[in-house]
Amino acid sequence: MSVTASHLYAYTQCPHRVWRDANDDPEQKDPVNEFVQLLWEKGTQYEKKIVEENRGALELVDLSKIPKSERLQPTLEAMNNKAPYIYQGRLEAGELVGEPDLLELQENGEYMPVDIKSGMGLEGEDEESDGKPKKHYALQLALYTDALRQLGFATHLLGKIWDSKGDIVLYDLNAPQGVRNKQTWWELYQDTLPVVRSLLKNETKTEPAMISICKLCQWQSTCKKQCIDKKDISLVPELGRSKKEGVNTIALDVGELARIDVDSVCDAKGKTGIAGIGKSSLEKFVRRAKLQEENAAEPLILKPYFLPDKPIELHFDIEADPTQDIVYLHGVVERRGDIQEFHSFVAEEVSAEAEKDAWVRFWEYFKSLPRDDVAVYYYSKYERTQYRSLQKKYPDVISAEEVEDFFDPDFAIDLYYDIVKPCTDWATYNYSVKTLAQFLGFSWRDKNPSGAASIEWYNDWCKDKDPVKLQRILDYNEDDCIAMIYLKDKLAELNRQ
Ligand code: SF4
Repeated sequence: MSVTASHLYAYTQCPHRVWRDANDDPEQKDPVNEFVQLLWEKGTQYEKKIVEENRGALELVDLSKIPKSERLQPTLEAMNNKAPYIYQGRLEAGELVGEPDLLELQENGEYMPVDIKSGMGLEGEDEESDGKPKKHYALQLALYTDALRQLGFATHLLGKIWDSKGDIVLYDLNAPQGVRNKQTWWELYQDTLPVVRSLLKNETKTEPAMISICKLCQWQSTCKKQCIDKKDISLVPELGRSKKEGVNTIALDVGELARIDVDSVCDAKGKTGIAGIGKSSLEKFVRRAKLQEENAAEPLILKPYFLPDKPIELHFDIEADPTQDIVYLHGVVERRGDIQEFHSFVAEEVSAEAEKDAWVRFWEYFKSLPRDDVAVYYYSKYERTQYRSLQKKYPDVISAEEVEDFFDPDFAIDLYYDIVKPCTDWATYNYSVKTLAQFLGFSWRDKNPSGAASIEWYNDWCKDKDPVKLQRILDYNEDDCIAMIYLKDKLAELNRQ
């Protein structure tokens, strides 16, 4: 069986997915997640756009019209003829099959793989850091480079990513993965290859584990069912696949975990003996396992928390399309006593002007309110991160200080990071606002509510301006805000007890 760059990508997401893709019944798969579909489409569109814009300058040999299985020979011919760039070539070397977007001729006559990605070329890039290579990009480029070396068209260990900003990022596969991790990307690739091969050949079998990436995976329904049937400990929030192996040394399922006496597990110094898991983490997992076992209807309150006492509450939530780098909706449910009113600020099209216009209108609305009377509620860090980046994008609209003031913890509460995560435990499998609000009895008007679906509706609405589609986007966003009210009210009630 061939090993492809897609297999390596899947492995970085979840080893079990590689095994299931190769060995399990495809009938058990869910339909492709809408967001994943959207990312595929955007990725393909971006690749085509880059190629069309640069077709002349790159002097491309374009193999994209030839069936994939027949592209090896034309690719080898083009490389032997020293074509400056080859688009959608195919490399086959032993078990390796690679289809880099571009093959680029180097000055010394060798070829370098270039992949066009609709994401950033590096991760963790910000004002303080240059960012570091992405593991899945590095592994994919390593496979192409390996195939080129075996075919005699490269001696180097280099590849490039042409990223969403149009930057071309060089990946040195001979470089260590980080300051602490001295293993090079090439060594990682060489370690990964036999593991992936073994999974593909069904020589190694893996188990499912509920992790955040599962919600985008086509095996989700059956993996989740298997985990629930077996009471797999990965169902305990924050435990996941990474800690599962360690915790499995003391508890095989949620029931066993719930019965663990943490003090008896720890040594005299309070160490659990499980790599990466301290005593307080283990106590947390045991508490959460107990709640699941008891099917507890009420969350456990670990310590009191602060909720501002203000006559006006803003429960706000934004919608963004990361594939087009746009925040297209700022939604706010304003609550004054028993009266709730929804305010929405929508970008009328996918453009910087429209995004800025919605951003301007949002701030005009917010500034019309008496600041000292307003408490702001949101869920997790996404809104704050996006607002800081919008401020940098449009500095003439609002100052950085005003954005920070909006998120001042005396007035603004991140329900997840300020309260749910540090102060509470729930019987649910995760702590998303959707899960917790549904647990408390709230239901969305839309039968299929998701951020990904909203992006799809927005893109459709931009094309035809159908008011029904816009209303669906607004209803979904309003319900997200009302879900926060449900959660906030429950947390306020429990805080009083
Ligand atoms: S659903 Fe989760 S555990 Fe199952 S294959 Fe997908 S990512 Fe892996």
